Amino acid sequence: MIQRHFDYLVVGAGLFGSVFSHEVMGQGKSCLVIDKRPYVAGNIYTSKVRGIHVHEFGAHIFHTSDREVWDYINQFAQFNHFVNSPMAVYKEEIYNLPFNMNTFSRLWGIKTPNEAKAKVGSQVVSLPGGKEASNLEQQALALVGRDIYEKLIKGYTEKQWGRDCVELPAFIIKRIPLRYTYDNNYFTDPYQGIPVDGYTAIVDKLLEGAKVLLGTDYRNFCKEQEQCREQGKDCFSWDKVLYTGMIDEYFDFCLGNLAYRSLRFEKEDMPEVDNFQGNAVINYTEREIPYTRIIEHKHFQFGEGEGTVITREYPADWEPGMEPYYPVNDEANNQLFAKYQKLAQKEKNVLFGGRLGQYRYYDMDKVIKAALLMAQEEIRSTV
Ligand code: FAD
Repeated sequence: MIQRHFDYLVVGAGLFGSVFSHEVMGQGKSCLVIDKRPYVAGNIYTSKVRGIHVHEFGAHIFHTSDREVWDYINQFAQFNHFVNSPMAVYKEEIYNLPFNMNTFSRLWGIKTPNEAKAKVGSQVVSLPGGKEASNLEQQALALVGRDIYEKLIKGYTEKQWGRDCVELPAFIIKRIPLRYTYDNNYFTDPYQGIPVDGYTAIVDKLLEGAKVLLGTDYRNFCKEQEQCREQGKDCFSWDKVLYTGMIDEYFDFCLGNLAYRSLRFEKEDMPEVDNFQGNAVINYTEREIPYTRIIEHKHFQFGEGEGTVITREYPADWEPGMEPYYPVNDEANNQLFAKYQKLAQKEKNVLFGGRLGQYRYYDMDKVIKAALLMAQEEIRSTV
């Protein structure tokens, strides 16, 4: 007999929804998981092309300083020892990121930390009378000086936000870490790597035991089930919902739209090319080049796979219907989100989670942590 009643309807088969499902199923609960996309894993979805795991929604590097989360995710995957060391191209020049002694040495031909500090010190532009920066350009110039700002920050940031740095608020860049060591490892977390079988395989494992319906939008699904019920047909039912879609969409945008930045990914399959750029991630910091970075996926797995696949990443304004990648957590949007949260608290038997349900930029480790906490809370409250 087909199971029709579930303890949870989980909307979204991304990382949050799948970790939550796995945990509650481990406590004997049943989950019906739906996703409007035709595949599981949400934004960490990886497809496979000639042995290359393609990060379809941008480079995803797992990194964390949380031992518990690291041990948790390692139950579902084996990780390689990839270390993120992106490069930046500005015109004909190529630099190491994050800003470190390799970058400074290439910029100024210097060798020692003292020389680099002196150079930065001579270039920073302090504001008269200790005044606060009134835009991002002033802020960046005060923090790192002209060369780093103009070659490595200005054009990239302007492409990311679609606005000139002088029109962007200073708070976007609170601090710009400068590393006075020859260390190209982007992250400082003790645990870092890429799952050797790709991210989708992790989500497949997390969702074992769940009933998964893909290509299924929440609103339409609810309507269909309602109609089924009215017609006395067999239909799905559930006690509680975990919603990991956009919180404003759940409430039919009744208080207005939350703002996002979007991205466009242009994938190019190059079966005849062995090695296109020699690194997994290269940022393009000139404003005149429309994309912000090129990912060459095979370098996440040390060159495994035949040919190569690259993806150019273009920042884009978000409009309804586009994928909302980055929440714009400015004051106005945070206030609007707080109002939606108040509505959410009044909803009976509905939980909101994940980057869209909580309107927050979340790295994967933070998503896992939050989903584990929510599942524990659920288990506690239903015992
Ligand atoms: P999602 O993955 O978005 O899952 C939500 C799911 O809900 C989606 O599958 C969606 O289709 C579905 N859904 C939404 N609405 C509905 C509906 N109405 N009906 C049915 N289904 C619905 N993190 C890192 O740790 N390291 C990185 O290097 C990193 N790089 C990133 C790069 C980019 C470009 C971006 C945008 C993010 C990056 N992240 C990274 C963050 C990472 O992608 C997120 O932490 C993670 O994907 C969030 O999982 P989620 O389940 O909250 O959301």
